[in-house]
Amino acid sequence: MNLEYWRNWVDEIEAAPLDALLAKASPATRAALERSLERRELTPDDGLTLYTCTGDDLRAMVKCADVARAEDVGDEVTYVVNRNINFTNICFVGCQFCGFKRQRWESDAYDHSDETILGKVADAVARGATEVCMQGGINPDMPPFKYRDLLDVIKSRFPEIHIHAFSPMEIMYGARRVRMEYPEYIGMLRDHGLGSIPGTAAEILDDTVREVLSHKKVDVAAWVDIITTAHALGVPTTSTVMYGHIETPRHVVNHLALLRTIQKETHGFTEFVPLRFIHENTVMYRKGLVKPSEHGELDFQMYAFSRLFLRGQINNIQTSWVKCGVDLAALTLKAGCNDFSGTLMEESITAQAGGDNGEFVPVDLIEQKAREMGRVAVERTTLYKKLYGRKAPNGARPIAASPAQADSHACGGSGCS
Ligand code: SF4
Repeated sequence: MNLEYWRNWVDEIEAAPLDALLAKASPATRAALERSLERRELTPDDGLTLYTCTGDDLRAMVKCADVARAEDVGDEVTYVVNRNINFTNICFVGCQFCGFKRQRWESDAYDHSDETILGKVADAVARGATEVCMQGGINPDMPPFKYRDLLDVIKSRFPEIHIHAFSPMEIMYGARRVRMEYPEYIGMLRDHGLGSIPGTAAEILDDTVREVLSHKKVDVAAWVDIITTAHALGVPTTSTVMYGHIETPRHVVNHLALLRTIQKETHGFTEFVPLRFIHENTVMYRKGLVKPSEHGELDFQMYAFSRLFLRGQINNIQTSWVKCGVDLAALTLKAGCNDFSGTLMEESITAQAGGDNGEFVPVDLIEQKAREMGRVAVERTTLYKKLYGRKAPNGARPIAASPAQADSHACGGSGCS
């Protein structure tokens, strides 16, 4: 990816008047963009027009996404000081896009003890984290109430920390292990300290695509059931999409349309996070099912389209420095994004899939990148309460983890459970 090209491209769009860019767009694109600027809901056909647009149409869409972002959520760039804890990489599911999972007999398989996890939480708290984000593989040897007990272990020592944990795939597996219905199981986790759920394991919400990606994984109906049950129980979730693999544009549009429908009913999504597929160490890539795609255009299409298509329903659009690299992620702040994700402090899933964007972004770097984009970074909680004036102890600076490569151009990677 030619980062300099995209930097100039974004700067030119920012400098150009909105009307001039709209005038150069094709009639179909212009009509869809004008509808969005008037806050009218985009149809799936509008979505398809926008998600696939290129050239002058894409320039106009990026400008409109930036305008909509400014109108809807202002100029602040939010971030959370958090730590990822991938507590086990042992997994029997076998997703074709995953480079993280291990079989239990592999030499680098691990399943962290409670002491190790507590040590990581203690380190996170000492560095100012307000959240721990915990996901892991689907471990066949997991004790039946492992997820509940993990919450107890952490909350007994760190009652203040927000625990953002357990994807719908983990919820499905956990509930099955103890033969509980989702309302009962999620309610139990909530009562033991679960603060919110990552809306991962979504990949593409289409069962034909999911069958190719991972035939053992939670299907669309179960994913929706778990997410809407969580929302009904007062447990918010994020929402995600994994793009850049075998999906078609129509799959992406339908995926966002489904998320938008859920949000209208539940208001339980806190944010939307587009996650670029990282191909390098994945079965899909080795089998030749996917080709590496150039980074840049597809990412701008995805982020700008998301801002406009979800407008009025999900207004926090999070860029992913893990998948795109810090510099490209910063540029997407001018294409509709308003959130820079978290410090993470430790990230294994994308790194194992071949991502090379590092495992940690310190607060200072987030602030610097926001400034470079003419914006101001503001720390937030997981649930988007802004923490004006709070300075995380140690500035959430690296202690053990390696800092992200600030000038990394690489983009790619897969999601996880
Ligand atoms: S993505 Fe998650 S569920 Fe799928 S194989 Fe990887 S660790 Fe297992």
